[in-house]
Amino acid sequence: MAATTVPAPVEIGRSGEHDLRVVWGDHHESIYPARALRLACPCAACVDEMSGRALLDPASVPVHVHPVRVGLVGRYAVHLAFSDGHASGIFSFERLRALCPCPACRPV
Ligand SMILES: [Zn+2]
Ligand SMILES: [Zn+2]
Repeated sequence: MAATTVPAPVEIGRSGEHDLRVVWGDHHESIYPARALRLACPCAACVDEMSGRALLDPASVPVHVHPVRVGLVGRYAVHLAFSDGHASGIFSFERLRALCPCPACRPV
């Protein structure tokens, strides 16, 4: 997939102590609890590339994990480094947007 259907973030930063805040190009604002993002990390150490099976044990992730570094990867993804030392998480915009926990994105 080359083209992304998700507008690029215009703002990425911390929200409070443990959360990540993203403002998207369509003015949508997403607040992600950091631990949920850490658990959703799609890297090869956390998810088996072949089977898609989760390799990460949630119990091994500290309750108060938070992002220590946030950056853009080209024009398609966000790189997150976490306080538990895990720094290989690359979240494509599409994946990140799909993880938005707000009521508008998660209708009940
Ligand atoms: Zn990972
Ligand atoms: Zn949302």
